[in-house]
Amino acid sequence: MILMKDIIREGHKTLTTVAKEVRLPLSKSDKKLLKDLLQYVKNSQDEAFVEKYHIRPAVGIAAPQVNVSKRMYAVHVEDFDGVLYSYALINPVITKKTNSLIYLPGGEGCLSVDRETEGITPRYESITLEAMSYDVASDQVIPVKLELNGYIGIVFQHELDHLNGILYVSKLFPSIPNAKPAFEFANDLENEA
Ligand code: ZN
Repeated sequence: MILMKDIIREGHKTLTTVAKEVRLPLSKSDKKLLKDLLQYVKNSQDEAFVEKYHIRPAVGIAAPQVNVSKRMYAVHVEDFDGVLYSYALINPVITKKTNSLIYLPGGEGCLSVDRETEGITPRYESITLEAMSYDVASDQVIPVKLELNGYIGIVFQHELDHLNGILYVSKLFPSIPNAKPAFEFANDLENEA
């Protein structure tokens, strides 16, 4: 089980290192890590669990954040229509993207960043993400091609940045020309990634 003590913070070398491709078939330890990453995100959305274990709520977490420099991350998040995106991904790649940029109006947050930050981070409005996906329940690895827009796309791009050794704090701007907010109102999205 991943807890806050297992999550490395800003300043740690692994967070600025480009992570390595994951070899398939998945090793036992890679499977366990993917399962643990996804479980962390799910647990972090359970109020009772959060209170008991003092973990920070999240919508995603990447392997480098637990000091494993491999191209894997987990996301568990609902869009504004209640559609759930729950994935443990391996070697994800953006294969298509829009030129148009968006940003999270309240700014992004990160389990590896313990301070308040000012500014917004540019993201592509829409992306196509291709990856291998590990289905924990069936123990199967399957290829996926995901069309991701708006807020959901921002979450997947934030995690992908972790695999490239990039923290959102290195991409903070007071404003971004021609970028639009991912949604109209800066309602308090509390979840970190
Ligand atoms: Zn993060």
